[in-house]
Amino acid sequence: PVLGQDPSRTYRLGIMGGTFDPIHNGHLVAAEQACNDLGLDVVVFVPAGSPAFKQDRRVSTPEDRHAMTLLATADNPRFLVSRIEVDRPGVTYTVDTLELLRSHYPSNVELYFITGADAIIDIISWRDAARIAQLAHLVGATRPGYDLESARASIAASGIDFKVSYLEVPALAISSSDLRARVASGQSLRYLTSDAVLGYIEKRGLYEAPRPAYTAPD
Ligand code: ATP
Ligand code: MG
Repeated sequence: PVLGQDPSRTYRLGIMGGTFDPIHNGHLVAAEQACNDLGLDVVVFVPAGSPAFKQDRRVSTPEDRHAMTLLATADNPRFLVSRIEVDRPGVTYTVDTLELLRSHYPSNVELYFITGADAIIDIISWRDAARIAQLAHLVGATRPGYDLESARASIAASGIDFKVSYLEVPALAISSSDLRARVASGQSLRYLTSDAVLGYIEKRGLYEAPRPAYTAPD
């Protein structure tokens, strides 16, 4: 079925942006909860190409992050992965991604942009925040260590008419940064992300001190 094909109903498309370096169960549980609570038809995961706010550290290649996102979401029919940011050169801005998705789907498909409590606080500083507010509903998901109240306050203070839903997500106090640190110090990632992602990280030698990794021709 094509999203938006029945003109007599509206569709709800969730968008989960992230660096996903690597994707973990915190991302997945937030997307799943958004599906349940907001009645989303699908969630499209959009791995960032060259993320605007992460120019200062080494980020795994877009292809590796895209592959891990595919592996982690492969068994959920409601979860899709898009290459729109991976294939776009240069720094990635959320507004461009939302514009692209908006023009891709008919108008009976509503966009819901899902972020954790940390990322939603940044929203008013994002490029073209007012345009983002026109293009998509925002979904602010609870995340351990971050306060949704301050997000509410900064959105109210922005003067921009964001449509926001707040989402209570089962608390997983994990981050990609923590997972990378675990690999670097030889600790297990099991139960923090999917087994397929674990295997991929090991096979590609991601996040480790440099050592020979197995490769195959493209
Ligand atoms: P990093 O530590 O590298 O910043 P991260 O774990 O924050 O990684 P991102 O790719 O930066 O992951 O996050 C993508 C989106 O997922 C953001 O909106 C972020 O707030 C949300 N998110 C990440 N981890 C969680 C979590 N444990 N619970 C809820 N939301 C989360
Ligand atoms: Mg982050």
